[in-house]
Amino acid sequence: MKEQPNQRKQLLYYCGLVIIVMLLLNIFVFPALLQPQVTEVTYDDFLAKVDAGQVEEVSYQDNMLVFTAKDENGRKAFYKTGVWPGDDGLTERLLEKDVKFAAEIPTQASPLLSFLISFVLPMALFALLGRWLMNTMTKRMGGEALTLGKSNAKIYIESQTGKTFADVAGQDEAKEALTEIVDFLHDPGKYAEIGAKLPKGALLVGPPGTGKTLLAKAVAGEAKVPFFSISGSEFVEMFVGMGAAKVRDLFKQAEEKAPCIVFIDEIDTIGKKRDNGGMVGGNDEREQTLNQLLAEMDGFDGKKGVVILAATNRPDILDPALLRPGRFDRRIPVELPDLQGRLAILKVHAKNVKMDENVDLAPVARATSGASGAELANIINEAALRAVRMGHGTILQNDLEESVETVIAGYQRKGAVISDKEKKIIAYHEIGHALVAARQKHSAPVTKITIIPRTSGALGYTMQVEEDERVLMSKEDAMNQLVTLTGGRTAEELIFHSITSGASNDIEKATRLARAMVTRYGMSDQFDMVALETVTNQYLGGDTSLACSADTSAKIDAEVNAIIKSAHDTAREILSANMEQLHKLAAYLLEKETITGEEFMKILDESAEHA
Ligand code: ADP
Ligand code: MG
Ligand code: ZN
Repeated sequence: MKEQPNQRKQLLYYCGLVIIVMLLLNIFVFPALLQPQVTEVTYDDFLAKVDAGQVEEVSYQDNMLVFTAKDENGRKAFYKTGVWPGDDGLTERLLEKDVKFAAEIPTQASPLLSFLISFVLPMALFALLGRWLMNTMTKRMGGEALTLGKSNAKIYIESQTGKTFADVAGQDEAKEALTEIVDFLHDPGKYAEIGAKLPKGALLVGPPGTGKTLLAKAVAGEAKVPFFSISGSEFVEMFVGMGAAKVRDLFKQAEEKAPCIVFIDEIDTIGKKRDNGGMVGGNDEREQTLNQLLAEMDGFDGKKGVVILAATNRPDILDPALLRPGRFDRRIPVELPDLQGRLAILKVHAKNVKMDENVDLAPVARATSGASGAELANIINEAALRAVRMGHGTILQNDLEESVETVIAGYQRKGAVISDKEKKIIAYHEIGHALVAARQKHSAPVTKITIIPRTSGALGYTMQVEEDERVLMSKEDAMNQLVTLTGGRTAEELIFHSITSGASNDIEKATRLARAMVTRYGMSDQFDMVALETVTNQYLGGDTSLACSADTSAKIDAEVNAIIKSAHDTAREILSANMEQLHKLAAYLLEKETITGEEFMKILDESAEHA
C-alpha cells in the first residue's frame, strides 16, 4: 500500500487535534484535578471563622496563612489569607478554639497522582484517540491495517464456520478426499500414535464459484475446529515486509489454536512461479512472502493438527516449490457440476427460499450446463427477487425460467456456457475415444466419461484406468493408445463431416507418443534400436534433445506421420463398424453429461446384443 497525500493530510489533522486537546486539558482540567480549591479570604473573614469555631487546621506557608475550615455544607474547604503583622493575640485565640497547628496543609496533589494525571492520562488519551483514528481510516481504505511493528494481519478467525458437507452439493470426489482431513482434525492423536503424518496441506483446484471456499469451511465445520482464512492478495498489498510478518503471525496464531484449519484463498497471488533474474526488485515482496510461507510449512509440526488448505483456479502458474512433498502435495480437483450436481446444488439453495410446490428444478439444471455452483445460487436468488418484484407469494416456475435466461445470458457472453451444438460434438468426440478404447483388446477400461469442461481447459474427458500398474509399454499398448487418441477426432469426422479444434490436446499427445516410439523406444522398423533422442532432464519436465542429422530428422518426421495415419485409419474402421453404439452412447452422454464406466459398458453390451 502506498501512502496517499490524502492520508498525510489526515495525519496532520490528527496531530493538530491532539495538540489542541492537550492544551485545553492543561488549562482547564488538570489544575482543577490536581489542586484542592483554595479560596482567598480577608483577615476579618478568617477571624470570624476562628471565632465561629469552624477553623480546624492552620499553617504558615509562603507568607500566607493557609487554613481549613468547614464550609456551609459542613465539608472541609481550603482557604488562605494574608498575615496581619503584630497580631500577638492570634496564637491564644487559635489555641482557645482548639485549632491545630499544621506544618503544612497540602494544596497540591501527591506527586504520584500528579504524575498520573499530568503524564499518564494524556498519553493514554493520545493512544486511544490515535487508535480510533487508525481504525476509521483503515475502514475507509478498505480494511487494511495501518499498524507498524506487530503485523496486524487481517486474519479471519471463525471458531465455528457453521458449514458442513451437507451444504456442499455434488463434489463427492472432493468431499471424499477431504474426509480424511476431517477425521485427522477430530483426533490427531490417533494418527500420531501410529506415526502417520497427514499431508500438511491440500490444494483445492477448480474454476471460480465451484465451492472451494465453501468446501474448506465445511471441513472446519465438520471437524468442529477453528477456521483461519486469509486471501493471497491481502498478503501482497501490504507495506514491504509485512507479507512475511503476516505469514509468521498467521502460523503462530494457528499453532496456538491447533487443531485448526488455515485457509489461504487465491494462493496463486503469492504462489506464482518465482522467476530468477526478472526485473530488479520487481516482486521482492511477493517472493519474501512466499519464502516465508514455505519456511513455515516446513517448520511446523504436522502432528499438532494444523491443516493448511489453499484454493486456486490457476494451478498452472504455481511455484513448483509449493507442490513439493510436505507442502501442498495433495491436489483436490473441484470441477464444475454435471447435471446431477447442478440439480443437487439447486436443491440446496432452494431450501433457503420459499418455492412453490409445483416447481420442477430439473429443467433448470438441464438448461444450465457449464454453470458453476455460485452461478446456480445466483439463479435461485434472481428468481426470488423476481418473485418479490412480481408480487408472487412464492417462487414460481416462470420466475426460475426467467432468471435462468438473465443469468445465463450474462455468462453466455463470457463464453462460459457451451451451446447445444458444441455439446453434441463434444459428446461424440468423447464417445469416439471410449468406444475405440473398448473395442481394442489391450486398452485400459474406461472408468468415466464427461462433457463437463475441466479446469485444465479440456472440454470433455474420457478417463481410463489400467487394471494393474504397468511399468512397461509394449508396442501394441502404444499403438492402442494412439488409436484411442485419434478416436475422438474420428467420431467428429464420421458424424459431422467436419473437424474442430477440440482435438488439439489429443493431437499433441499422440504426436509425442508416436515420436517417442520412433526415437526412444526403438519401435519402428526403419530405425530399429537406435536412440535418436535422449532425455536430458528426467525429473524436471523431461526435455529431450535430438541427436541425429537433419536428414534423419526428416525421416523421423515421416515415420511419426505414418504411425499416426495408421492409428487414425484403425480408429475409423472401428467406429464405422460401431455406428449404432456410437449414436446411442453419445445421446446417453449428452443427456447425463457424466457417465461411469459401468453405464458405458452396459449400453455397449445391450446394443451389441441387438446387432
Ligand atoms: P470458490 O471459492 O470456488 O470460488 P465459493 O466457495 O466461494 O467458490 O462458492 C460461492 C458460492 O456458490 C457459495 O457460497 C455457495 O453459495 C455456492 N456454491 C458453490 N458451489 C456449491 C456447491 N457445490 N453446493 C452448494 N453451493 C455451492
Ligand atoms: Mg473462493
Ligand atoms: Zn479428445
